[in-house]
Amino acid sequence: MATLFGPKKEKILPIGAIRQGVVFPHTELVLTFGRPQSIAAVEAAFKSNRIICFFSQKNPQVENPAKEDLYQIGTLARVERLLRTETEIHAWVKGLGRIQLESLEATEPFLVGQVVEIPEIIEDSPEIRALTNNLVKSFQKAINLGKSVDAMSVMHLLGENNPALLADQISYILELKTVDKQKLLETFPVKKRLFKASEFLARETKILQLERTIASKTQKKFDKGMREAVLRERKKTIEEELGKLKKGEDEDEETRELKQKIKQAKMPQIVAKKAHKELKRLSNMNPNHPEFGYIRSYLDWLTEMPWSIATPNNASVTRAAKILNEDHYGLKKIKERIVEYLAVMKLKEKRKESIKKTKEEEKQRGSTILCFVGPPGVGKTSIGKSIARALGRKFVRMSLGGIRDEAEIRGHRRTYVGALPGRIIQGIKNSGTNNPVFMLDEIDKVGTDFRGDPSAALLEALDPEQNFEFSDHYLEVPFDLSRVMFITTANVLHTVPPALRDRMEIIGFPGYTEEEKFNIAKKFLWGKQLLANGLKKGEVKIDNQALYEVVRRYTREAGVRELERSLASICRKIARKVAEKKKIKKTVTKTDVAKYLGPRKYSSTLAEKKNETGIATGLAYTEAGGDIIFIEVGLMPGKGRLLLTGKLGQVMKESGKAALSYVRSHWKQLGLKQDFYEDLDIHIHVPEGAVPKDGPSAGVAITAALVSALTKRKINRLVGMTGEITLRGRALEVGGIKEKVIAAHRAGLRTIVLPKDNKKDLVDVSSKIKKDINFVFASRLDDVLRVVLTK
Ligand code: ADP
Repeated sequence: MATLFGPKKEKILPIGAIRQGVVFPHTELVLTFGRPQSIAAVEAAFKSNRIICFFSQKNPQVENPAKEDLYQIGTLARVERLLRTETEIHAWVKGLGRIQLESLEATEPFLVGQVVEIPEIIEDSPEIRALTNNLVKSFQKAINLGKSVDAMSVMHLLGENNPALLADQISYILELKTVDKQKLLETFPVKKRLFKASEFLARETKILQLERTIASKTQKKFDKGMREAVLRERKKTIEEELGKLKKGEDEDEETRELKQKIKQAKMPQIVAKKAHKELKRLSNMNPNHPEFGYIRSYLDWLTEMPWSIATPNNASVTRAAKILNEDHYGLKKIKERIVEYLAVMKLKEKRKESIKKTKEEEKQRGSTILCFVGPPGVGKTSIGKSIARALGRKFVRMSLGGIRDEAEIRGHRRTYVGALPGRIIQGIKNSGTNNPVFMLDEIDKVGTDFRGDPSAALLEALDPEQNFEFSDHYLEVPFDLSRVMFITTANVLHTVPPALRDRMEIIGFPGYTEEEKFNIAKKFLWGKQLLANGLKKGEVKIDNQALYEVVRRYTREAGVRELERSLASICRKIARKVAEKKKIKKTVTKTDVAKYLGPRKYSSTLAEKKNETGIATGLAYTEAGGDIIFIEVGLMPGKGRLLLTGKLGQVMKESGKAALSYVRSHWKQLGLKQDFYEDLDIHIHVPEGAVPKDGPSAGVAITAALVSALTKRKINRLVGMTGEITLRGRALEVGGIKEKVIAAHRAGLRTIVLPKDNKKDLVDVSSKIKKDINFVFASRLDDVLRVVLTK
């Protein structure tokens, strides 16, 4: 405990009243006094031992304060130096310690009072040290944020580690009202003082921070405003100058050119009117205007559309038939239907030309849309191209796969930035004619979501009742699509919106048999690939056995894509040898195939495998066409549970349950124990688990596999089966028979069990297949089991 006064604790001393602010111990500062009383007190002190007491006034307005006008806690100080001016006196004082005013002894000529010392309690603890450090840091931060403090104080403070001193010095430099400063002075414990000072400092820092951000924001705003104003002014001048220039010439090059283009485009009247209106806007517009570019490209679109450019229609039906045959092997029925369709189209057109057209007849001119349905690689696209060739028209193709936005079909409104017409109008423009053959691929993959329904826009494009004035959002004027021959393609029909399906004439491409693939490869693909890979036609041959090897052992598909790719790969390798000037064989043989294509991809055929119990050969129909699938049933000790795996859809799972119910209810007939399932778990699995499978048509095959597993009788692998089952054991009609039969034939099956009601579907199956395959028609499951289970 440090004392100021020595053993005698009270002292009578001169007092200086401070109107505003507080003098703190451990600080040095210059005070200025003007009141005669205060000047006298300072002078008196300076003359004696230089010791004086300072007490702050509660109210700065009071001229001659009495005891109650002063705060009772003040600071004892020493006057270091004095500077007198005419009216004032400046005193450099140094705060020494806290004191309390006991009584006022005199008021004239200056205040004299009796004071007692408040001893400073110096504490030291980790907490206090932490508080001290924190305070120094906060102070640094405040300085960095621009707190104004004289350099002397800063140096003092940053080097200070005495908590009491630090707290007082910080209190001195804080920007606080007198009341608050006085409160700091009256806080005696050092810890509390440090706390309070920290609090006040933190508040101040916050304010400094705020001020800073406000200042920088204002600055930025100001800068931006300034720049904008300057630029705007400049822009105005440029525009004025340009305007003057433009007025000088009465019509510029661009306008003249566009006028010419509008004339040449031979647009319908309303379109021409629109074009001229836009052109007028354009020519009055300053090229810097943001809309200038938009209008310009709009006019380009309008003038470049083939409003009246059509390929002359001079195709004869016989020529068309010839061309279709030239380009494609097989597909007899399909080609016939296409030729019929073309004949009808031609006839309609002829009749219509001879009669005077009315609006109603105009509508009738359009015909139905062809829709080619089938797995990939069966020649849908290439038949489309052939049709275009046969008719002598342009061919455009557009894929609809994955389109979810109506604007893709019908375009965006011009108000959109970067707006363009939809794909239909784009396709027409690219073809350069208004009567191309327009193929819309993957119509089964069009989706619908919040961006509108693309199929509604498609419907409008395809519908002969509406499409003579098809409206595109971008074009804004109607375009006549009625001369376009639309052909759509799809892998499956069931996902095509019904409204669209109704408008179309469906032509199914069921897939090729091995024989047909062989012939397509021999007659078309091989020659095509030779040329595509830079070889000459007939430069290298491929023998029949080699081709069959590729068809059977390197591909397994309904179409001929993989086959074509494999042949391409052989040709590429030959071409490389030719380029490297190596010797090549003139004919590719069966043994060469493995050299070019690597080991066989599909090594064993079905016929080479053994019959087993619990595995049935089913026939499936998927997006990739018909296929055969194997259904496996496994039995293990358990509690009568049924497990179904292999990525099966809901319907297929239900077929599995129905199969089990059938078997359970026919236990006697099948020669099983009544409670055979109670201590068994039954697992039904359909391999190639990654491929999703669904539909009811595997019911018969699942039941057969189940019965085989339970009765331990083997199933003949070479018998394929399809059909839905009922709990009573009837076999019901299913779809996709033609595709399934072709796939079964391809896989080498020799017997197929079909539901009786499917007999009618065999009408257009080729006679070659009918010769190879023995068809069994079953109305009940018993009939099926009799055929498929071996003795
Ligand atoms: P899709 O459009 O059905 O997927 P593509 O028309 O693209 O099939 O046919 C794939 C390839 O097979 C093409 O090169 C095509 O010329 C050829 N192709 C398909 N079917 C035949 C056929 N019957 N005759 C000749 N070539 C065919």
